[in-house]
Amino acid sequence: MVEALRKGGIRDERVLAAMEEVPRHLFVAEAFRSQAYALDASLNIGEGQTISQTRVVAAMTAAAQVGPDDRVLEVGTGSGYQAAILARLARFVFTVERLPKLARMAKQRLDALGFENVSIKVMDGTLGWRSQGPYAAIVVTAGAPRVPELLVEQLTEGGRLVVPVGPRDHQVLQVVIRRGQRVITREIGNALFVPLVGRHGWEEEE
Ligand code: SAH
Repeated sequence: MVEALRKGGIRDERVLAAMEEVPRHLFVAEAFRSQAYALDASLNIGEGQTISQTRVVAAMTAAAQVGPDDRVLEVGTGSGYQAAILARLARFVFTVERLPKLARMAKQRLDALGFENVSIKVMDGTLGWRSQGPYAAIVVTAGAPRVPELLVEQLTEGGRLVVPVGPRDHQVLQVVIRRGQRVITREIGNALFVPLVGRHGWEEEE
């Protein structure tokens, strides 16, 4: 998998090492284990949610430029896989999930694997997790209708927000960097995520 990611243009060796170390098959349902390391498979993790393709996880993680002293926020814990990758790179990862059952399962997996620098909370991540911020990096793993302003506010100076933005059926991965009162935004590709459902996201059903 890591060789294929490298060929696909992922150059960040810390990200590649983290992806080599975290056993992705333990984050997906048994029925999908054989596909766990396939590059372009987004896999069912229950409750109608999916774990992103490996190349999307790699690209988003690389764009977040996580350093060893960083505090990181993830919105959309899902299986806990992306949180595990971030936890290999950061000092501490705060991750929030709106569905209690997924949060519970993710916590079990991360505990079983011995991760001690991840904290999971059940809440609406479109609000961020202000009391633990600010964050050097925020990674949103659900599709947002627009860049969530409250998340930009919870970035450190120079902090990076990686978020898929667009209509429900296709998004553009945006990297928003905070520079004083301004932001710099760039786009790093297309993606398809389940909707970010919450106060500053989508409504549950439309
Ligand atoms: N990062 C996950 C995949 C996430 S799928 C992994 O590595 O497995 C997207 C997740 O975002 C789903 O679990 C969904 O329930 C969650 N989600 C959607 N809207 C949310 C919100 N407003 N706050 C927190 N979690 C949300």
